[in-house]
Amino acid sequence: IVTMRAVTKRFGEFAALKAVDLDVAPGEVVVIVGPSGSGKSTLIRCINLLETYDEGDVVVDGIRVEEGRNLRKVREEVGMVFQAFNLFPNLTVLDNVALGPVRVRKLSWEAARQKARGLLTRVGIGEQAEKYPVQLSGGQQQRVGIARALAMEPRVLLFDEPTSALDPEMVGEVLDVIRTLAGTGTTMLLVTHEMGFARKVADRIVFMEAGEIKEIAAPDRFFTNPASERARAFLDAVL
Ligand code: ATP
Ligand code: MG
Repeated sequence: IVTMRAVTKRFGEFAALKAVDLDVAPGEVVVIVGPSGSGKSTLIRCINLLETYDEGDVVVDGIRVEEGRNLRKVREEVGMVFQAFNLFPNLTVLDNVALGPVRVRKLSWEAARQKARGLLTRVGIGEQAEKYPVQLSGGQQQRVGIARALAMEPRVLLFDEPTSALDPEMVGEVLDVIRTLAGTGTTMLLVTHEMGFARKVADRIVFMEAGEIKEIAAPDRFFTNPASERARAFLDAVL
């Protein structure tokens, strides 16, 4: 459902992605790991046009992701959950989730709020609907972020370190929500430093270094017997 072919992204002279190839099948959960600065965020940002790429092709569900032309269509297909939640502070939790479907899918507020209530219940915070984001814990805010992404019924869901801004005791509750989603056949690309979680939730692990995909492997293989020396060194450092 996501195809990347020879995708290169430069910031000036510096290549943050170097001819990256990646295919993600429908329903697949792909976890991207690698050292800081290896291009993980850049890779997933190229899938929803938060970043434009310089060479190659990114295709999502048959739509070529390209600057200018398909932004809206691509954003309807691809949901994103951010490290920093990015909720609207002046909207209730319920309306944060309902806004996208009203704006983009042209649902009535009534229909969108009904749907939003269902999603908030699904991520375990149905009782927080009328509060404002500042009144919630970090873990609860991130679950709002996930509900908001789901409200658009995306074909693909991107997560960029969804738990790295959270206090340790809140990480688990957010990972549990993501794991449940993974079990429902949602196609996901996820960047995380939570290696235990990566191993449990991933269908495949993508290991990046210096703008390249160095290794793609099943999680058990990757964590017990990585093929590349680079991956081995990375795992020695983080595990
Ligand atoms: P981290 O684990 O720290 O989040 P990452 O793997 O997500 O790292 P990226 O954010 O994708 O890394 O960055 C890849 C490289 O591109 C880094 O060297 C970074 O400094 C560079 N880079 C990213 N965004 C920009 C930008 N807007 N301008 C210039 N360089 C950038
Ligand atoms: Mg990053």
